[in-house]
Amino acid sequence: MALKVEIDKRSGFCGGVIRAISEAERFLDGNPGKKLYSLGAIVHNEAELERLGAKGLVTISHDDVRSIPSPENETLLIRAHGEPPQTYELAREAGVNVIDCTCPVVLKLQRDIREAYTSLMKGTSGGCRLALAVRTPRSARPLPTLGEIVKTSFPSLSIEPGPSLLRAEGGYGPSMPDLTAFRSVAVSPDTTTGQIIIFGKVGHAEVLGLLGQVGGDAVVIENMRMLLDALEEGRIRVDSPLEIFSQTTKSPVEYSEICKVLSERAKAGLKVHQTICSQVASRHEELSRFAETHDVIVFVSGVSSSNGKVLFDLCLSRNPRSHHISSPAEIDPSWFRPDETVGVCGATSTPRWLLEEVANIICMKSGN
Ligand code: SF4
Repeated sequence: MALKVEIDKRSGFCGGVIRAISEAERFLDGNPGKKLYSLGAIVHNEAELERLGAKGLVTISHDDVRSIPSPENETLLIRAHGEPPQTYELAREAGVNVIDCTCPVVLKLQRDIREAYTSLMKGTSGGCRLALAVRTPRSARPLPTLGEIVKTSFPSLSIEPGPSLLRAEGGYGPSMPDLTAFRSVAVSPDTTTGQIIIFGKVGHAEVLGLLGQVGGDAVVIENMRMLLDALEEGRIRVDSPLEIFSQTTKSPVEYSEICKVLSERAKAGLKVHQTICSQVASRHEELSRFAETHDVIVFVSGVSSSNGKVLFDLCLSRNPRSHHISSPAEIDPSWFRPDETVGVCGATSTPRWLLEEVANIICMKSGN
């Protein structure tokens, strides 16, 4: 009997990636010969990046934004993962045009995390509870004012700085010192206020975008080990109200385990926000079934895809004969026997055309 190869019907780009790529292609097709600068890879898939690169898409980093030549004539694309507020400021200062392709699901998550943070930071009087640590002046060079510092550090907060709302530490008394005379000022949240926890990959673009909504004032945990370490080291303040959010592409099962452990420790309560993307959450169940009902699984995703790693681990847990590849050249015919069924699937960043190519090559290499 011949090898039977089936492509998972639900694998392929998610809505957010489809939207970002369509926007990029619309721009490139409408502006022949022009480049479109993408801040980070528009999709974590090398083959798709190569295809779009041939049309004029150039991937750049944040450090490159200021060096874009003639920025007023150029366009920067913000991908589906979203960005912190500082990136919009950077683009504005550089004078480059922006196409914002932040996925609507991520935009909602950014808004929710901002609102949760603002409400956690409110004290009983309705004021903002921040403690200022003012260090000794070392030079007289001009420095930002208090209002500017607070605005930069806590962009989501609406603050009227004043002695009733802010406390100055370091011997300056209750009245607000003139911070322009000081070399450095650290603004930190009052430890009696609540705390935001983000379940996500450390350093991932979406997580950085979320951190930017709260001025970096959140604890990021990537897995159960990191949660237990953060609890042990007191970085998670279990005596304060906690609110937890998940990166949109994390595993729903892992998230619920994390939330369970955290809720057992949270003495002042834990509010769990269900922020895993519904397209990703439903994929987990379907993909589990798909992996269990095939003899061999070939999972296709880019090496840097975080969603790819989560979904491949899921396949492997359901089917030990699961293989991860990022290009058809990695297919090994010794994985298959003639009368078996092979399931080809991928991440939310894997293009459909690549899955089809992989399926065809498996058939060819197995003599089908
Ligand atoms: S996985 Fe969901 S939230 Fe993330 S980009 Fe895709 S559609 Fe948007």
